[in-house]
Amino acid sequence: MTTTTSHVATGQWTNWGRCASADPVAIAHPRSTAEVADVVRSAAANGQHVKAVGAGHSFTSIAATDGVMIRMDHITGIQHVDRETGHVTVGAGMRLRDLNPALHALGLALPNMGDVDPQSMSGATSTGTHGTGARLTGIAGAIVGLEIVTGDGTVLTVTPDDADLFGAARVGLGALGIVTSLTFACVPSFLLHAREEPMLLPDVIEQLDSLVDDNDHFEFYWFPHTDRALVKRNNRVSDGTERKPLSKARFLLDDEVLSNGLFEVVNRIAKHQRGWVPRLNAISGRALSAREYTDWSYEVFISPRRVRFREMEYAIPRAALPTVMRGIDAWINASDETVSFPIEVRFAAPDDIWLSTGHDRENAYVAVHQFHQMDYRRYFEGIEAIFGEHEGRPHWGKLHTLDADALRTRYARFDDFRAVCDRLDPHRTFRNAYLDRVLGE
Ligand SMILES: Cc1cc2nc3c(=O)[nH]c(=O)nc-3n(C[C@H](O)[C@H](O)[C@H](O)COP(=O)(O)OP(=O)(O)OC[C@H]3O[C@@H](n4cnc5c(N)ncnc54)[C@H](O)[C@@H]3O)c2cc1C
Repeated sequence: MTTTTSHVATGQWTNWGRCASADPVAIAHPRSTAEVADVVRSAAANGQHVKAVGAGHSFTSIAATDGVMIRMDHITGIQHVDRETGHVTVGAGMRLRDLNPALHALGLALPNMGDVDPQSMSGATSTGTHGTGARLTGIAGAIVGLEIVTGDGTVLTVTPDDADLFGAARVGLGALGIVTSLTFACVPSFLLHAREEPMLLPDVIEQLDSLVDDNDHFEFYWFPHTDRALVKRNNRVSDGTERKPLSKARFLLDDEVLSNGLFEVVNRIAKHQRGWVPRLNAISGRALSAREYTDWSYEVFISPRRVRFREMEYAIPRAALPTVMRGIDAWINASDETVSFPIEVRFAAPDDIWLSTGHDRENAYVAVHQFHQMDYRRYFEGIEAIFGEHEGRPHWGKLHTLDADALRTRYARFDDFRAVCDRLDPHRTFRNAYLDRVLGE
């Protein structure tokens, strides 16, 4: 292909979970919005597809392309700060791990985030990445404006004044164009007090409403085959509270040795000795003991994830959670599947973004994982059927089997989103097989 971008190459691409790969005809590394527009125009003229890729942290093939892959690594950094409003504009390829300390240096923070930080801001928001907190939305809920290059190379600035574009583009799945910058409504930096402790699952379910509503950020991990859970409550502290981070030794023991090093060993054993998993889970459920610390929000939200896995996560109406948890327990007991990864449960507030899992609905999020060397299909399909009984909406970046016909029934604005696609990308330049499946051709 011909292009004016600074650097074009070819090469194989795989995602973090090693469950999606692509062989793009070219990889472009544009340095500006104008260069992105050049790549799009040139590829469209050659009849090629174009996809931007972030950190490749989606488990689905949502970022894969047989055409031109755009790497956003040169379109990063903080571009503008409005001190009065806390609105911060960043290059779309900026990674969360770079944004957090940069915001902190300005006395600012994102209101909420997920549990890892390698993702790009455009990748994280395009798929509806979220954390936990019943009064808080996913990361895209903090977007107050964005810039996007559409199918004919036009550069659009999207603001809340254009309700349709704003409704569609904040969680755009990469289907509407290449996002080049994002503006977030940030909040003043804040400390969180973290309290983590084991609890019995029946007690968690019984006290669910107060645990979710009385904490800023509540989540729990249930160890399948047992009645044990690890419960995490993170709360903002009052002014003047001292920062008391985890000691290096405790971090190393809990987060590196138990949650990663030993957990990798547990999974390698589980691969060959499936019958041992219930015992191993019971031991894991006890090994992580209670701990408390106070640290900057982004230090508390993040946990190192060194054991490679595959994941499926669905949003379900919050009220359905106890029934869904009972259904998952019953399915695991009735099957001969053994599950070594804890099941993660989080919560989020409704938002007004058309294809956000949180659209107009208060959700619980249930995530199931499988070690990357083990087959996940039967387990995920069994649990996916349970989510399907409760109007489950799959995370766009995590494994699922739904297609456009099923998804249309779960999103009131599904066809409105498709209409925006028709407008911004009439020739389907930004499509791939995954997007054709979930949006319809
Ligand atoms: C270990 C791990 C932990 C995770 N934890 C969480 C979590 O806590 N919460 C959660 O909700 N999710 C979580 N995820 C999922 C992850 O946040 C999402 O899949 C996210 O999309 C990954 O961001 P990325 O930069 O890797 O994007 P990619 O996977 O590279 O791309 C995702 C999509 O965004 C599009 N895209 C990227 N950049 C642009 C752009 N500039 N313009 C247009 N489209 C673009 C791509 O084309 C693709 O469609 C986790 C994933 C992993 C592997």
